[in-house]
Amino acid sequence: MSQRRKFIKQSLMGSAFFIPGLNQAFARVPTEFSAGQKPLILSTWNHGIPANEAAMAKLTGGGSILDAVEAGVKVTELDLDNLSVGLQGLPDREGITTLDASIMTGDGSCGTVAFVRQIKHPISLARMVMEKTPHVMLVGEGARQFAISQGFPLEEEILSPNAAIEYQKWKVTSQYKPIINIENHDTIGMIGIDSNGKLAGSCTTSGLAYKMHGRVGDSPIIGAGLFVDDEVGAATATGLGESIIRICGSFLIVELMRQGRTPQEACEEAVKRLIAKNKNIKDIQAGFLAINKEGETGAFAVHPGFNFAKATSSKNELIDSRSHFTL
Ligand code: ASP
Repeated sequence: MSQRRKFIKQSLMGSAFFIPGLNQAFARVPTEFSAGQKPLILSTWNHGIPANEAAMAKLTGGGSILDAVEAGVKVTELDLDNLSVGLQGLPDREGITTLDASIMTGDGSCGTVAFVRQIKHPISLARMVMEKTPHVMLVGEGARQFAISQGFPLEEEILSPNAAIEYQKWKVTSQYKPIINIENHDTIGMIGIDSNGKLAGSCTTSGLAYKMHGRVGDSPIIGAGLFVDDEVGAATATGLGESIIRICGSFLIVELMRQGRTPQEACEEAVKRLIAKNKNIKDIQAGFLAINKEGETGAFAVHPGFNFAKATSSKNELIDSRSHFTL
């Protein structure tokens, strides 16, 4: 831990401004994954491996960190094996696939789309919202109309073969149970830092399977599924969106890092907060990733099973996250 960080932490612990609920003593956690490195890309789940590869290729080919996090998750948006990202994702309970995505850079620029249909690359549409409109978020039909105006082709609205099979199975009982467990979530959240310390992040999903039509999760909500600040670091989330929105998960992690926590400590504190603010925690999985501006990393989940991909310029590896509950 840097002297400065130690100092900030000690001062905060003795300060009248210390955030309630955060003033318990916390042990320094082992930081086996956290040695600072730049450039660095982190992304959720095993599909993070090919996504990181594309992101690193973009970065080393001269692209910006923003170009990299867009290019990386575009790979997942086209991955037919992934039933939680892109148009091949599982539909809502009406049988319609709707997509959410967000993108952000460390200077506060951000763009998001939610509840959008027929767009193959919602992450690129989110970037267009950021770069071509005075707004941060477009949803539903408005987002689709904006996509058309920007020359995005509209895809045919049919379920992918795998999603169609799963939807038919689900319709047998049509049981609406918005739980996220190890089998049914796969959002990609990606955060990255370039060698100059510039940060960016992206997050894209088809959301919770069999959700109510119109439901939007954490992924396109800036501060929930994604938050990036060049002064501090970046965080992203996966898991039950409602549980993450309730605690403003990604923003919380960045703010905890601002106050002196390491990325690992910040992720662990966010999980603790999420557990405190959500009922039926045994049915809720959520996981967080974080990077600080030194290129140190953190990851933590509610339950076992969360993994993430970490790429440096020389290595791209899948790492099992630790979790609050253990098997
Ligand atoms: N966070 C996503 C959502 O709630 C789901 C996921 O991570 O797969 O929409």
